[in-house]
Order: sequence, then C-alpha cells, then structure tokens
Amino acid sequence: MLPYRSYVLISRDQLLRNYRSVRAAAGPGVAVMAVVKANAYGHGAVEVARVLVAEGVEWLAVSSVNEGVALRRAGIEKPILVMAGLLPQEWPALADSRLTPVVHSLEGLRTLEHLAREAGKTTEFHLKIDSGMYRLGTRAAAAEIIAALRETKHARMDGLMTHFASPTDYTSTQTDEQTAYFTGIVEALRAAGFCPAHIHMSSTNALAYKRNPGWLTMVRPGHALYGYVSPARGDAPKPLLDVKPALTWKAKILIVKDIAAGSRVGYGGSFRAPEAMRIAVLAAGYADGVPHRLSGRGKVIAAGTLVPILGSVSMDLTTIDVSHTPSLAPGDDVTLLGREGNVGLDAQQIARMAGTISYAILCGIGDRVERVYV
Ligand SMILES: *Cc1c(COP(=O)(O)O)cnc(C)c1O
Repeated sequence: MLPYRSYVLISRDQLLRNYRSVRAAAGPGVAVMAVVKANAYGHGAVEVARVLVAEGVEWLAVSSVNEGVALRRAGIEKPILVMAGLLPQEWPALADSRLTPVVHSLEGLRTLEHLAREAGKTTEFHLKIDSGMYRLGTRAAAAEIIAALRETKHARMDGLMTHFASPTDYTSTQTDEQTAYFTGIVEALRAAGFCPAHIHMSSTNALAYKRNPGWLTMVRPGHALYGYVSPARGDAPKPLLDVKPALTWKAKILIVKDIAAGSRVGYGGSFRAPEAMRIAVLAAGYADGVPHRLSGRGKVIAAGTLVPILGSVSMDLTTIDVSHTPSLAPGDDVTLLGREGNVGLDAQQIARMAGTISYAILCGIGDRVERVYV
C-alpha cells in the first residue's frame, strides 16, 4: 500500500513479458516499433520506452512532435516515428529532435521537401498509404506517388506504412482489401526503384490475429504491450499473443459511513439506499479518469470482492457499497483496475460497463494519478 490518494502500479516485468510475446509472434527478422503515444496509453511514455529500449526494441512511435521531444529530452536515442501529422510550425522541433515524421499526402511531401531545403537539411520520413480506412494517408495512385518522390531530394523515404480499420472483424473483407491495395502500391514503388527500409501495417490486432503477410519488415503494436488484444468478430483464429495487463489502479478510502434506508447518495440523489447500508468514498473521480458513465453501474474491487459504485461519479470522488466488506476503513486501498486474489477487473471489462473501449479507459487515467513502477 502506497501513500497516494490514487496511483497506478506498472509492472516492468509484465511489460517485458508482453513485449517478448509480441517479438515472438512477429517472428525473426521483423522489427518491433513500440507505440508509446498518449503517455504510453497512460503507463508513462518515458519509463515504458526505457524498459523496451533496454530490451532491444528497434523503433518507438508517438502521435505528436511534442511527445517525441519529451522522449528525446529523457535521453531516448532510438528512432522515433511521429504518426499523427506534422504542422509546418512543428518542423524546427522535429528536426532538432531528430524525429521521423509520417507524411500523409503528396502535398505534405512537398511541404516537407521545402522545409528541409530551406533549413539546409535532409530529413527522412515514412509515407502512409490510405489503403481504405479513409483517415490519414494518401489515396494518390502509385504513378502520382512515384512522380512526387522523384521530385524530392531533401526528404528521403525510409518507410511505407498503412493502418487497418478493422483487423478483428472476420465477418468483413476490409482487411484483405486494404492489404491488397497496400501491396499493390508497395510493388509499384519497388518496380520504380523505391524500396524503403521499413514496410509496416500491423498494429496489435493485426499481429494478434496473424493478419500480417510475410513481406512486412516491422510491426507496430501499442495495446498488446500494455496487455490487451481486442476480441474478434466472426471466425477468427485464436490470438497469437500471450499478454496480460501491466497496470493496476488503486484509490484510497477517505471515509466510511453507515446510512439509513432511503438515504440519497451523491449528486442528483440518483442512488437511494433500499436498506441500511455502509458506504465508502474513494479519493478518485472523473478528473482522475474514472468514467462518469460508471455512475450507478460500475464496480470496483474492495477487500477482494466486486462492489458497486453508488450514484454519480463526481470529479474527485466516487462512492461505493461496502456493506459486505466491514473490514474496510479510511486509508485502505481499493482496486479500480487490477486483481485482488481471484477477482479481476481489466480495462476491457470497465470499458464494457462504461460503454467505451479499453484504450479510452487506459488513456483516460489522469495526470494526478501517481505512476509507480515495480
Ligand atoms: C495507435 C496506433 C497503433 C497502435 O495500435 P494498437 O491497436 O494499440 O496496437 C499503430 N499504428 C497507428 C497508426 C496508430 O495510430
């Protein structure tokens, strides 16, 4: 038990085991780019990057230039890919920190070429192909891409990538269609003499469900490193990865009180005690990342059992039912996410109760929740 109001314990060993499972699934000769965007899905980007770099990860990926700069300031020296777009005003920081941007359009390619030339530098980039997700990436035909690449001198293509929209969905052909589209572009570029060192398309779920064809040189997992693979739809193979959550989230009990039948708990009085009860108020609320949508429907683990959240989750506080766990007292910890004995609650289960996805639960764990590495 630690002296914080709310904290997460992050297991370096479990991160390593997850990473090794990813590495084994990717197979020999395939590099791993660890996705540590959004503060490593709430796990702490610098610390996670340090653990994985020490274990030999080849690349790191973030969303923004600022995230990449923070890793460089912490002394991380591996190549870092900035995936979610580059604004021209971010270019100086990108160049100073030796980050590799993803280029998402031919216009973006010309802008990067211009910026590099003006700065008297050369820069490497990965080009993202929109293979049918219709988010970031270029839909330009191979011939247009080749023509644009022939015009670039200061910007050098070091990678080609795409991203799947629905790799867990075995009732849809979208992944096969995206793979075919991307393969077509890669081959046309290759025939024209553009053979970048890195070709990658598989994030966690594509890797877990063996969606990656052999010619890939790199995989790009995030969620798996933190212990999660999304459930599949339809006739999917058994996931290749053996990963477990690396993070446990705790909150302190601030006060315990006995209330009479008919008492209304919390904002709006949305919970009315059907009988005399004992309640506890926890030192974490939606500002810490406990989803407001768990109001009246979420659960936490208290003294080894699942107990319900009562009434509204408020900004800093959450109230739970401890009628059947009389040993609990102020200063004790309860588990918001994690395991106590046989009882567990992971981000996917919490997400189901809150009507969201596990990614959002992990990324939502607030800044004021202390991160502790064990
Ligand atoms: C976030 C992200 C990933 C990692 O996805 P996971 O499902 O967490 O493995 C990979 N590639 C891109 C482009 C991403 O944005």
